[in-house]
Amino acid sequence: MKLDGRRESTNVEDRRGLSGGTAAGLGLGGIIIVGLITLLMGGDLGDVVQNVQNAGGGFTTQTSYEPTAENEALAKFSRQILASTEDVWSAYFQKNGIGTYRNPTLVLYTGTTSTSCGTGQSAMGPFYCSGDEKLYIDLSFFSTMKQQLGADGDFAYAYVIAHEVGHHVQNLLGTLGQAHSQMAKMSTANANRVSVRIEL
Ligand SMILES: [Zn+2]
Repeated sequence: MKLDGRRESTNVEDRRGLSGGTAAGLGLGGIIIVGLITLLMGGDLGDVVQNVQNAGGGFTTQTSYEPTAENEALAKFSRQILASTEDVWSAYFQKNGIGTYRNPTLVLYTGTTSTSCGTGQSAMGPFYCSGDEKLYIDLSFFSTMKQQLGADGDFAYAYVIAHEVGHHVQNLLGTLGQAHSQMAKMSTANANRVSVRIEL
């Protein structure tokens, strides 16, 4: 993808090199994601849509962290893709009279980080938290995609970011909230079905 000269979003919180919270185990969302990736044969690279659970805490510095040139390039690319989604969704909302599009924040982190939805960790893959309207991505996920999922290239990475922004749009439209409240009253099997639809 040619993004030279494209604007970079300023709605980015760079927490790389900081860690926060205590790592939790992979939840049901993670299991659904694995199924989704299998189902879609790399067409969807999955994540976890989080419910609001508890407030986040502080951060501590990871003294050993030093971003590689590749990581820096990915961070820049992510800011450019996010800017592109801001432009597209703002125009779409305006054109369709949906209201004003509220930009989400992209959080770049390494290892673990605190979110309004509990502790985020790399193993969960990229995810969106409706409680703070932020997208959380550990850029090492893109290396994992390349090595383990066979998904390589800018377009696949852009897809992941756009997918998370999609959950933000679902949140703004109320779809996400409706799905979560319905899921709370359902059997696990039915809740999983709703979850899969939200992902698709
Ligand atoms: Zn998703």
